[in-house]
Amino acid sequence: PLPEDAEFYDLEGGEEGTQSALDQIKLENQIFQAFQNREFELFYQPIVNLKTKQITGCEALLRWNSPLHGLVSPNLFIDVIENSSMVIPIGHWIINQALKDLRTIQDQLRLNKKDRMADEFMMSINISGRQFTHSDFISNLEDLREKHDVQTHNIKLEMTERIMMDGAIALDVLNQCRTQGYAISIDDFGTGFSGLQYLTQMPISFLKIDRSFVMKIMSDPKSKAVVSSIIHLAHAMDIEVIAEGIEQNEECLVLETLGARYGQGYLFSKPVDMGRFLKLI
Ligand code: C2E
Ligand code: MG
Ligand code: MG
Ligand code: MG
Repeated sequence: PLPEDAEFYDLEGGEEGTQSALDQIKLENQIFQAFQNREFELFYQPIVNLKTKQITGCEALLRWNSPLHGLVSPNLFIDVIENSSMVIPIGHWIINQALKDLRTIQDQLRLNKKDRMADEFMMSINISGRQFTHSDFISNLEDLREKHDVQTHNIKLEMTERIMMDGAIALDVLNQCRTQGYAISIDDFGTGFSGLQYLTQMPISFLKIDRSFVMKIMSDPKSKAVVSSIIHLAHAMDIEVIAEGIEQNEECLVLETLGARYGQGYLFSKPVDMGRFLKLI
């Protein structure tokens, strides 16, 4: 297990955009090696009901526990994965692990007579564009779901606005996911510079307000206004709102006052490994 206060270390290699093609290939190889060496792990961060503070689900977050670099943040390598074909095997591994752990979480909740919490628990999985538009995405997802004997309504697929903008394929696959019963969540909402029209067309159940707005909610009235508008817009469209990156109690109170029902952030818990998450719930 990784220490709770583990620091993230930067990968060797300097600033973005200065890498040569060779460095890029080296980095890709290094990451795929790490994956094959089982250095990847999923951490889980609780998503809570802001009113009751009850845990309603969690988000699966990838970690690279590198013997060389320490605990590496996905911000530093997820782009490399998403822009290469290894996104398919790694994405498959992520879904498999998250669904396996979902099953374990629900089993433990039921063992502790928390049947309702188990029935309603939602596992959020980040899905990248290339993974989502891969032709076998839904059938692979369904296979893994059946393998772990978990239900679609307990699974939430998190995607950025960018994927939503990807036109006809996205709409078709999203509709299929929704028909099967999976929940769709828009991640980092408000940062994608996209229009709002897709909100009227896509079968979206949740929308996550990006941390960049939440962190300014106390100091910047304009950010607060944006958050308030997003919440009203979402609720008018029957979309639930999750505020991400809540670090302070004051932020939590303001968000609650503005009508947000769900939240996620260090105030409640940092992402933790599976062992610690089971203790949390
Ligand atoms: P995201 O999906 O928006 O995930 C939320 C990020 O915010 C996580 O960073 C989480 O640790 C961090 N966070 C949550 N609460 C707080 C808070 O109160 N304060 C601060 N400062 N940060 C908070 P993380 O785990 O480093 O992940 C970064 C990004 O990497 C994710 O952003 C997501 O876009 C991507 N990512 C992570 N895991 C996966 C994965 O399994 N698949 C894919 N495709 N992308 C992933
Ligand atoms: Mg996410
Ligand atoms: Mg997010
Ligand atoms: Mg984010």
